[in-house]
Amino acid sequence: MKENKFQELSKKLLMDRKSAWTKLEPDKKEEVFSLAQDYINFLNKAKTEREAVLEIVSWCRKNGFVDINAVENTQPQPGTRFYFVWKERAAVIGTWGTNSLKSGFRLVGSHLDAPRLDLKPQPVYEQEGLGLCKTHYYGGIKKYQWTAVPLALHGVICTAQGNKVSIVIGEDVNDPVFIITDLLPHLAKDQMRKKTTAAVAGESLNIVIGSIPVDDEDVKEPIKLALLEQLNKKYGMVEEDFISADLELVPAIPARDLGLDRSLIAAYGQDDRICAYATLKAMENMGQPAQLALGLFADKEEIGSVGNTGMQSNMLEILLEKLIRWSGEDAGLYEILGASQAISADVNAGLDPTYPEVMDKHNAARLGYGLVITKYTGSGGKYNANDADAEYVSRIRKLYNDNQVLWQTGELGKVDQGGGGTIAQFLANKGIETIDSGPAILSMHSPLEVSSKIDFYHMVNGYKVFLASK
Ligand code: MN
Ligand code: MN
Repeated sequence: MKENKFQELSKKLLMDRKSAWTKLEPDKKEEVFSLAQDYINFLNKAKTEREAVLEIVSWCRKNGFVDINAVENTQPQPGTRFYFVWKERAAVIGTWGTNSLKSGFRLVGSHLDAPRLDLKPQPVYEQEGLGLCKTHYYGGIKKYQWTAVPLALHGVICTAQGNKVSIVIGEDVNDPVFIITDLLPHLAKDQMRKKTTAAVAGESLNIVIGSIPVDDEDVKEPIKLALLEQLNKKYGMVEEDFISADLELVPAIPARDLGLDRSLIAAYGQDDRICAYATLKAMENMGQPAQLALGLFADKEEIGSVGNTGMQSNMLEILLEKLIRWSGEDAGLYEILGASQAISADVNAGLDPTYPEVMDKHNAARLGYGLVITKYTGSGGKYNANDADAEYVSRIRKLYNDNQVLWQTGELGKVDQGGGGTIAQFLANKGIETIDSGPAILSMHSPLEVSSKIDFYHMVNGYKVFLASK
């Protein structure tokens, strides 16, 4: 009798923290796994921000979204689907709502860039019988993780003649790959004594690209010349063209299932393409939302949301001006922003059972426990955080609860352990109600990040109900 009473009381008063797998209806399991497979396919095609934009555009065309620049002379109707590509590295897609533009939009914003190694403007050199390329890492990486893993080269080269050439080397099983060598343990005595931050220096992130010289003893750098000749034959480029190129090295490792039960995904670039793809899936079957529904895909988040494709730019305002003209409504830009609501869709740190000491376990998110609501990120006293207000957190929580979206709370590590930010603060700076909500992942920013398939399922549903909400 007594035991029963407290069980009831527990159920009534305590938060229910359980693996979302335990609450999955058996007939939904197939849906969870097939959604995850779609996501894995997307990851394998979208390994850079430019490729992700191309995938989003091709998805848009398949799903009845039209280029905003092609329809400006028509009148948008509730349910009208459009897309807006911004400088080939960022994009916004939208579905027109039944309510007026001035009543605000619902936006799910993610980012398409991911930590990687960029080729330097003058990368190619040769030494000791090997041809190599210099790199400069992009975003927050642990440098030692990028040695001795196969790397693929992706990007564009703009030649002096004005040609733009896209390249991908290392993704096909028959392609060669590139690699950053590491010291053999036998001779790494000094290296192993260094701190891990210093064990592999930034200037040591050099990739091996070849070793056959041209057959001429008078040529000073015969391997470099042979490699440049190959590049010239294949892409029509010369050494100087490297200066006007965006060339990125990413792990040449396909995304795949992780675990005996295949419940997890191991893949590069899940931060933050998991949220980008969940946004596409959330918008796929949307009919006529109440408010204008926007999926925003930003660039440059990993280096501070800077530049003209980052969230600190005016890309959203530029689109909104177009939308105001398109609607013919007498609505002000700031009026719309101030009436709008957003989810900053980005990954959070999951509680790693091997490293629990960096988290406050009462507030940490776990893999497989559902979509994470993160009230604030930031570091050292909530600096650089968007601290969502109680009213807005309440609204999101209710929305998820009312629609069977399983969720948990999370924070980016324990207080004063470190921290980090997302695009949330920059959305909020525009006057938009904003909250962080995305999945918990493990091994963030490493060559193979880990996510949970059941979390992805709840992300899609969470973003869907938010985007359709009044
Ligand atoms: Mn992120
Ligand atoms: Mn990140």
